[in-house]
Amino acid sequence: MYRLLSTKLADVEQQFLSSNPIQWEQLLSIFEKAITEEKGKSDQAILDRVFSNIDKNTREGLQRQMERLTGKSVWLGVFPKSLLDSFIDEHTRLIKSVQREHVDKIGLAIKRGLREGRLQKDVTKDIQRLTGMCKRRAQLIARNAPLQYSGALTKHHQISAGIKQYRWQTSGDERVRESHRDRNNKVYAWEGPGPHPRSEVNCRCDAVPMLI
Ligand SMILES: [Zn+2]
Repeated sequence: MYRLLSTKLADVEQQFLSSNPIQWEQLLSIFEKAITEEKGKSDQAILDRVFSNIDKNTREGLQRQMERLTGKSVWLGVFPKSLLDSFIDEHTRLIKSVQREHVDKIGLAIKRGLREGRLQKDVTKDIQRLTGMCKRRAQLIARNAPLQYSGALTKHHQISAGIKQYRWQTSGDERVRESHRDRNNKVYAWEGPGPHPRSEVNCRCDAVPMLI
């Protein structure tokens, strides 16, 4: 997923930087048009694959967990199509917004360069700095998406298997946020207000099902 985002961002940047500055404004309007018009069919297919894979892994992990706890294999409910759809929708929009921001930022750098009569190498530096920010944002989105989706799936599958409570389990390293460290090993209800494991950005905590 990050590759999907970063390749596109890098392509756009490359095209700008390798072309004659005289064409920059023209290039900009081409990219703007592409973003508005693009239906993103291939993006959607990639997201579909990424998220389906997460579903498979989450389901298998949960099944192993349940087997360990009960000694029995459990049937996990139907595939939550609407959950998948809403994640794909949300991330298609996020990807578009990163691309939009990327082109907007390049546009700003170019306009500013023209207005102030800046040197091409300075405008180039500007573009690289601004697009670096977009890449970091893309990275955050790509890293966070699988975590949040697996969290939502865990919740879905546990609730549909009749589990009402879980024990909060952090990953136990120094990157765990303090508010989650406080929750470690405590029991929470799925019906409670949350947050639940992996509902917050970059959370890698886990929900161990409570069987009683
Ligand atoms: Zn956490």
